[in-house]
Amino acid sequence: MFDSLKGKRVLITGSTTGIGLAAARVFAEQGARVGINGRSGGPLIDDTLVALAATGAEIAFFPADLTKSSECKKLVDDFVATFGGIDILINNAGGLGGRSNLEDIDDEFYDRVMDLNARSVLMTTKYAIPHLRAAARESGETTSVISTGSIAAREGGGVGAGIYAASKAWLHDIHRNWVKEFTADGIRFNIVAPGTIDTAFHAAKDDALKAKIADTIAMKRFGRIEEVAPAFLFFGCHALSGYITGQILDVNGGQMSP
Ligand code: NAD
Repeated sequence: MFDSLKGKRVLITGSTTGIGLAAARVFAEQGARVGINGRSGGPLIDDTLVALAATGAEIAFFPADLTKSSECKKLVDDFVATFGGIDILINNAGGLGGRSNLEDIDDEFYDRVMDLNARSVLMTTKYAIPHLRAAARESGETTSVISTGSIAAREGGGVGAGIYAASKAWLHDIHRNWVKEFTADGIRFNIVAPGTIDTAFHAAKDDALKAKIADTIAMKRFGRIEEVAPAFLFFGCHALSGYITGQILDVNGGQMSP
């Protein structure tokens, strides 16, 4: 289709499964050099890496628990040691972190959800910025930070998922701030906000609940990970979206039109 992503160095957090893995696959298919991340390795990760490498792309795995700032730094350092820099950072690691009604929320629950969804993005982006700035200067093209937001950030989330929804709204908003600070450096910031996508995220829901949720979606079904991945490709590619920054792209089958 185009070769603007060939050789680009793409770090995708939380990419051993689900939406992140699908994003890794489309970047690999475009000839990018892709860093995969999850908390730890194992046979399943090995199989995933072999499958991705079959595209002919250069793939490497970087284990790191991104709830810890020191591991966010280590991830960026390890990726740069392997690939020599960063052109595209995708902050995708995240999750519900459990459910709790307001009156039951304690510090441990709050920290768990915020560390996973907010601190991980803040710290990984912080450590990636010097590399993204240098890559933009060297290439003469914009570099890109893309974070996975959520429909929950738009509408508040389900009961018990308020901190999760707020953590994603936090991401939607801090991107607007980073646009002000880093556009002069040639770095763009955009959000992909999935609706209800069929991944492990919904594993705890039974079929009846899934059918009820599907009924609230204009397309009457959950989205597939392959239907979300191209949005990351679009925002990552200077040739396609070089004048687009500070935006949120909702990929939700018409579940909501904010
Ligand atoms: P998933 O559970 O398949 O993916 C989560 C990924 O994050 C996995 O690769 C996991 O290894 C990684 N991860 C989790 N904790 C981590 C940690 N501490 N450090 C490093 N990596 C960690 O589910 P998914 O649906 O693909 O979720 C991906 C992103 O999409 C998440 O940010 C999620 O909040 C967001 N999202 C999902 C949906 C949905 O309906 N599936 C909707 C909106 C937003």
